[in-house]
Amino acid sequence: MPTAKLEGSPALKTTVMFEGIRFSDALGAAAEHSLPNYFPYRFKKGEHDPTGKGKASIPYLINTDDDTLIRVLGNGDSPWSVMGNREDGYKLLHDSNPADAVDIRFEPLHDWMQDNTSDGFPIAQAGVSTHGDMMVINVAPGCEYFLNKVNGNSMRCTFCSYGAPDQRTAHLGQKAGQVTIPELTLARMREAMNAVTAETDIKHIYLVGGSLTDPEQEGERFLQLARAVQENNPKNIPVTLGSGALPEETLQQFYDERLVDAVCFNLEIWSEKLFSQVCPGKNNYVGYNEWIASLETAVGLWGRGRVYSAMVAGIELEPEHGMEWQEAAELAGQGVNDLCSRGIVPIYSLYYPVGGKERSDYQSRLRNFFEHLALNYRDVRKQHGLEIWDGFMCHRCAYMQLECDIDRTQA
Ligand code: SF4
Repeated sequence: MPTAKLEGSPALKTTVMFEGIRFSDALGAAAEHSLPNYFPYRFKKGEHDPTGKGKASIPYLINTDDDTLIRVLGNGDSPWSVMGNREDGYKLLHDSNPADAVDIRFEPLHDWMQDNTSDGFPIAQAGVSTHGDMMVINVAPGCEYFLNKVNGNSMRCTFCSYGAPDQRTAHLGQKAGQVTIPELTLARMREAMNAVTAETDIKHIYLVGGSLTDPEQEGERFLQLARAVQENNPKNIPVTLGSGALPEETLQQFYDERLVDAVCFNLEIWSEKLFSQVCPGKNNYVGYNEWIASLETAVGLWGRGRVYSAMVAGIELEPEHGMEWQEAAELAGQGVNDLCSRGIVPIYSLYYPVGGKERSDYQSRLRNFFEHLALNYRDVRKQHGLEIWDGFMCHRCAYMQLECDIDRTQA
């Protein structure tokens, strides 16, 4: 199987996602006015550390001049670095070719992130966030799969870092076993939405949250959330339902009330065997075939091109699954074909393996897999007449996915 080659912005994005960026004074200074990265930069042994603390804040997202969005991964071994400053602009450069530096900006630290709601609550903690022109609403992030075991095995998805509803979700009023979202949480959410849309031209709203073990109850919670969001969406910004797979009657209710414009129920991984291993909770409480059936029901309601499934691209290369990248790519390719033939559009997000920077063999296999999949996937989507609807996502908000970037390059 030949190794695929990307070109243009998708190639730069992939390279920087995989190789990361090493620390520079400019990158550290940019952190002061940029959306902060969830993961601080950790200096490697022997690396010059101007902070003296072993770690430093760095920005989360880069924007290139053609509006390609790239997530920043700190890596002391990377040939990529950033120079410049806020006034004159920043450049991203590769050690081997500094003359070809690329002009970049960083996703800014928005004013609303430092503001409070009318009852004095920090808006940044109100369950609303942005990346590019997408507003993500997540007012109940705790996932009950983290609380449950079956035959001694945790029901959480193996790659997930959400966590259970506990003290970390208490500021949102989320408690284990409680289906309803507190009215105070929704009121703060509405204020946060208003603050965001006053500052940023939002093109997509994405509703997400942790799962409940009962899909009907999960549907109830998302119905409540979607109603509250639509009551506060005067510009009719397209809304996507990012819950788990829901029962048919619940989907019909979403459709009849015109609460969402698209859905995205994340199957995460193709094949029943891998699904049961990677997503034991989804497999146990919903089921693999039922998950796909729910996506098909959604296609019947919202139509082809409005139904998506995020996939964790590359988790199949973890050692416990015993697959070489070619085998994994072939299996993923079967998933692409099958899902697209049902009118379901998979979206592949790059999986960052734990300790990935130290696992260079894994990195090269993962990169071959990801590039091969990304390039071949567009042709399959085209064959099935499926485009990524720009109300769902676009190149301005996709920071770990290539579909929109490749579509744009090849258009
Ligand atoms: S269902 Fe979602 S939130 Fe829960 S463990 Fe899986 S990926 Fe994480």
